[in-house]
Amino acid sequence: MSRLLALLPTSSYRNEDFLAAARDLGVDVVAAADYCHQLAPLWGMNPVLALPFSEPDKAVEKALVYLDAGLDAVLAVDDQGIEVAALLAERLCLPGNPSAAVRTLRDKLAFRELQHTLGLRHPDFRLLPEKADAAALSPTLDYPVVVKPRRLTASRGVIRADDSVSFIQAVERVRAIQRRADRDAAALGLVVERFVPGPEFSLEGLLTAGNLDVLALFDKPDPLDGPYFEETIYVTPSRLPAATQGAIAQAVEDACRGAGIVTGPVHAEMRVNEAGIFLLEVAPRSIGGLCGRTLRHRLGLSLEALILRHALGEPLPERRAHLASAVMMIPIPKRGILASVAGIDAAKQVPGIEDVVISVAPGQLLVPLPDGAAYLGFIFARGDSPDDAEAALRSAHRELRFDLRSEIPVAERSSTE
Ligand code: ADP
Repeated sequence: MSRLLALLPTSSYRNEDFLAAARDLGVDVVAAADYCHQLAPLWGMNPVLALPFSEPDKAVEKALVYLDAGLDAVLAVDDQGIEVAALLAERLCLPGNPSAAVRTLRDKLAFRELQHTLGLRHPDFRLLPEKADAAALSPTLDYPVVVKPRRLTASRGVIRADDSVSFIQAVERVRAIQRRADRDAAALGLVVERFVPGPEFSLEGLLTAGNLDVLALFDKPDPLDGPYFEETIYVTPSRLPAATQGAIAQAVEDACRGAGIVTGPVHAEMRVNEAGIFLLEVAPRSIGGLCGRTLRHRLGLSLEALILRHALGEPLPERRAHLASAVMMIPIPKRGILASVAGIDAAKQVPGIEDVVISVAPGQLLVPLPDGAAYLGFIFARGDSPDDAEAALRSAHRELRFDLRSEIPVAERSSTE
């Protein structure tokens, strides 16, 4: 029986899908999570396997005390654990990506520097150190620009600014978000880069010995013009001409090769305009949230099972005909406490809808972008064509009603009371 160390971030949507895939494959899973080591025993977790994913070197030393030589693979199920997984694979002489390459791709500044060094197309960019004066930089910028934290994901803290005033405000806000979310914020600073116009696409792939196998190219049909960049609908197959799709795959493979990643899942986001293909991000992980479920039919097994099989060197099934499928990450319309969700059954009845998953619970505080990083849930659709699948998602979304209440349900007292 194969034995695999799975790094399961507490905040991941995908832990259950990975664990289910491992059960189906008969894999023995050693689970590690980023729980607090003091709370872990209270929750019935082995405290040794409570690893601080945000401090990769520390997490690795802690894990190595416990782990024996009997592992066949290390797998991070989501973004937070990929650096720890790469370091552990190196130390245990298991297959994986070089940890330096993974670190480069997790850092938005390091990736832009890499693109620049390799001569790959990229927007003009600058580092704005934590203590630097945004007002001094603002007159030198070519607007519109995008201000972003170095290492957050899911568009958290990414803000477009069209002029000096909105730039200075954006910097203040993004700095605060990064300080809350990244322990190394003070040392990191922010990335400021030119806004790239044009439609956006997303590629899901699998690398084997440096060769890219494209699992799916997704269209993102909703305009992503800012000031915040909320992902909503992904549709596959893409409606782009075959030649452009081929050029995108080539650009992603070139970037992977240049970065030095060679194996496992790859998720890339890009914009395409008359100047060419701009890779905004290439990440050595699979698509986030529950979006991977949209590929199940095409892959003939779940994306998680595919990734597990690949990590263990097991054969992969033949791909099936590319039926159209689509997923909507249901956006959080405003900040508030969720009281109830209505219309789920009606949404599920819409022709073409495969499933509606609400991933928040009543009583939960919901925070929209740019501060938050969660979704209300996911809608999955299939169709004879990409247009049909997309239309089904939009109809189903119209059926859903989210009752969001203010965080302070009682009237605020005036200071004179
Ligand atoms: P994350 O890793 O948090 O998703 P990204 O750098 O990929 O951060 O940015 C998130 C989204 O913000 C992108 O998918 C895109 O829509 C938008 N975005 C980021 N940078 C740019 C840019 N330079 N030009 C246009 N849009 C951008």
